[in-house]
Amino acid sequence: MQECVVKDFSDDDDELLSRAIENYETTSNPITNNAERVIPVVTSEGELGSPLSRFRPGYLWVSDLTRQNWCEQQLYYSFTVPSVVEENPVMTEGSSLHLARELAVHDVVQVKVTSNEDIWAIKVLNLLSSLVSLLNGQTIAREVPIFGAPFNEDVFIVGLIDELRFDPSSFQLDLWEFKTRKYKSMPSKSQQAQHRLQVMLYKKLFDDLVKGKLSKEVIAKHLKLDLNRTFGSDIQETIDGKGMTGTNLHQLLDVLFHRIQCITCIREIGIEYEHQSSKESIGIHSVDYNDEELVMLFRDYLQFWRGQREVRGVDIEEAWKCQSCDFADVCDWRKLKAEQYSKVGNSKSKVTHK
Ligand code: SF4
Repeated sequence: MQECVVKDFSDDDDELLSRAIENYETTSNPITNNAERVIPVVTSEGELGSPLSRFRPGYLWVSDLTRQNWCEQQLYYSFTVPSVVEENPVMTEGSSLHLARELAVHDVVQVKVTSNEDIWAIKVLNLLSSLVSLLNGQTIAREVPIFGAPFNEDVFIVGLIDELRFDPSSFQLDLWEFKTRKYKSMPSKSQQAQHRLQVMLYKKLFDDLVKGKLSKEVIAKHLKLDLNRTFGSDIQETIDGKGMTGTNLHQLLDVLFHRIQCITCIREIGIEYEHQSSKESIGIHSVDYNDEELVMLFRDYLQFWRGQREVRGVDIEEAWKCQSCDFADVCDWRKLKAEQYSKVGNSKSKVTHK
């Protein structure tokens, strides 16, 4: 069994939990008309800022970008429109299955954190533990934290890789995402596009670390961390118990950079789909990584986060997404598109009439 994974008491670095809560964080600032479609950016008083500074100061989650891939307008409303937290049974069941898979390869221990530096030490330790277990002959590591600032865009991204598979004989490392589904069928093309983006981002972040493209200075700057701050006693005990060295992030990151550069870049990436109730495999989707496509998408998405362009909803071909959207009744994008569509329809009917 792989070494223990550590988590802080509050568990506030868990992506799923964070996403569920933050999806429903609200302000009293719903968008009410088209004139407000352009996202207000920072004033000289600093009252408002870009979506990045307002909703995600410090860093973005990979899941922010995959949700944006589904519908950017929906993502924006999830931050700005008051809403009721409704438990999604599919998501809850999926989280339980993820936890069961995680516990199959390692134990989870809880430690007390005393600072942001301690919280980030946990991420570094869990990534390190996974690497050490793979380098020591384990073939699978699950729930592996990953982070970085890809494509020199000065934006920090954080994620959680479902599974790394290592073949010690060929030294090949593969990355797989595990998705559970209520229905025994492969997901729609739109959902597959989200999952594809997710695994491509994970690979990019991981490979950048292997290639030494992430520096301690960049981490400290984005996360506002004091790399020389001494860890709390629980974190220090955990580090000592794992036979590692380091009393602060400055030293622990040196260990991480050294270890990860002993491993290889990720070769194969893909998604595995499983039926929730029967636990049977539905199928796998092997993904071809495309660096050019990823950087174009990433830069386009960052324009929204930086407040450099207006928020966009779904294209008319994907209007079916609106039918199950919580924000359909308040969505300005939907109204705008309906108006445009009816104008086109009217102008066409006039021509026909003549
Ligand atoms: Fe996006 Fe449609 Fe929902 Fe509007 S109603 S937020 S366009 S999915």
